[in-house]
Amino acid sequence: MPQEQILLDKASARFNDYQINRIRKALILAKKAHSKQKRLSGENYIYHPLETALLLEDLKLDADTIIAGILHDTVEDTEVDLSRIKKDFGKDVAHLVEGVTKLSKIRLKKSWFGIGKKKLEEIPEFERQVETLRKMLLSTSKDIRVIFIKLADRIHNIRTLDSVPPESQVRIATETLDIYATLADRLGIGQWRGELEDLSFKYIYPDEYSKLSLRMGRILKRKKNEVEKAKKLLMKFLIKSNIKVIDVHGRVKRIYSLWMKLKRYDNDLSSIFDLVALRVIVENEEDCYRTLGIIHDHWRPLPDRIKDYIALPKPNGYQSIHTTVAGPGGKIIEIQIRDKKMHEKAEQGIAAHWYYENIKPRKKSLFFSRTKKPQPIPKYIGQWFKELSSWQKNIKDLTELKDNYQFDFFKDRIFIYTPQGDVKDLPMGATPIDFAFSVHSEVGNRCIGAKANGKIISLSHELANGDVVEILTTKKNKKANKDWLRFVKTSVARNHIRRSQKN
Ligand code: MN
Repeated sequence: MPQEQILLDKASARFNDYQINRIRKALILAKKAHSKQKRLSGENYIYHPLETALLLEDLKLDADTIIAGILHDTVEDTEVDLSRIKKDFGKDVAHLVEGVTKLSKIRLKKSWFGIGKKKLEEIPEFERQVETLRKMLLSTSKDIRVIFIKLADRIHNIRTLDSVPPESQVRIATETLDIYATLADRLGIGQWRGELEDLSFKYIYPDEYSKLSLRMGRILKRKKNEVEKAKKLLMKFLIKSNIKVIDVHGRVKRIYSLWMKLKRYDNDLSSIFDLVALRVIVENEEDCYRTLGIIHDHWRPLPDRIKDYIALPKPNGYQSIHTTVAGPGGKIIEIQIRDKKMHEKAEQGIAAHWYYENIKPRKKSLFFSRTKKPQPIPKYIGQWFKELSSWQKNIKDLTELKDNYQFDFFKDRIFIYTPQGDVKDLPMGATPIDFAFSVHSEVGNRCIGAKANGKIISLSHELANGDVVEILTTKKNKKANKDWLRFVKTSVARNHIRRSQKN
């Protein structure tokens, strides 16, 4: 299998023999476990975990993550269980696989999709639901590596979405765009975000997608020569000034982000200057600013179009200098300048941080975390966590982070499903009564019983994260029970119960 060989070749360049043997062992187990299964495309199932692991390898994540990527569907879909994984690969890999398995039930409910995605966007409740699912994904993960695996899994699934029945395509693509691409963006993983967005776009808005790709194709054909000319000249200028150029390439704007931008510019492509940009990668930060000076020496910059994201990085850590100039022949062109490290970070985001640690030979240890010294949190990861923590107002301090992989922003929240698949975000210790009132005041008032995951529970029962809760109601008009005030946790429930007494 070519993917298997590619994975082993790439991994061998980074890991010691001990880790390579573990990876081989995981491959043997996964191949055996999935041997009788096919993907909807008809391909052998093993291609899917292999592609997932390859994506993780390309992000240069640690061996445990690669192994968990190979095994990520075994517990859900095959005879292999977690105790087997723990015995053979250690508790960290078992935790990762368990985490990914748990995430598989976090999804948008089908009934949202009868009315078309465009209309959905106009419903505030849909946006709230999407945000709750993002939070739920993070709260269930606890270890950032689980999210990496889930994102890689989703990339391969969306690459092969053609073989999924059409009625599921829009739901999966919407989930991908609104939940996973957004997470990849918040993690700063530009290459993954881009692919997730573009592929989902194609399924959600097929007409817009094909129209825009035609328009784009025509312009790109014309622009190709301009960019080539500018590139050659720029190389000449930089070499003359003794700047070490790592790479200069034309980068084409991603179709989804172009579409989003066009919405803000009255659909006028001629006012979009960065459809094609020239990207210059140099050795270090100082050379970035020198390069900017040299560019402006030769080509007149457009006013108000110089953006210094090195001094002022974007919230997700993105750094570069952008400038738009009148290039050769007076043609307007955007140029992006960054150094090697910034480039890696822009493509790999938070994952790039571990690259430098992982290439060092490490002692033989089953448990990755045991050999791992606590590292200071780099500035941009700090920014990222701040961004995330804005979801959770009560976060006290970044030092709460046990190590760089672990996070627990939502430890005092639980996420509860309705039988229809909606998710409610509740405080820890919440009861069926809190849940009932979060659905609707009348559901609360008329509540006479509750089931969690199909079993009858008492009304004061503490719900657990991920429970599916069904509220049994009476048709008769009924007041809320005053005694409920003794155990409810939310002010919403408390207020409704008090109000109900007055009526
Ligand atoms: Mn999978």
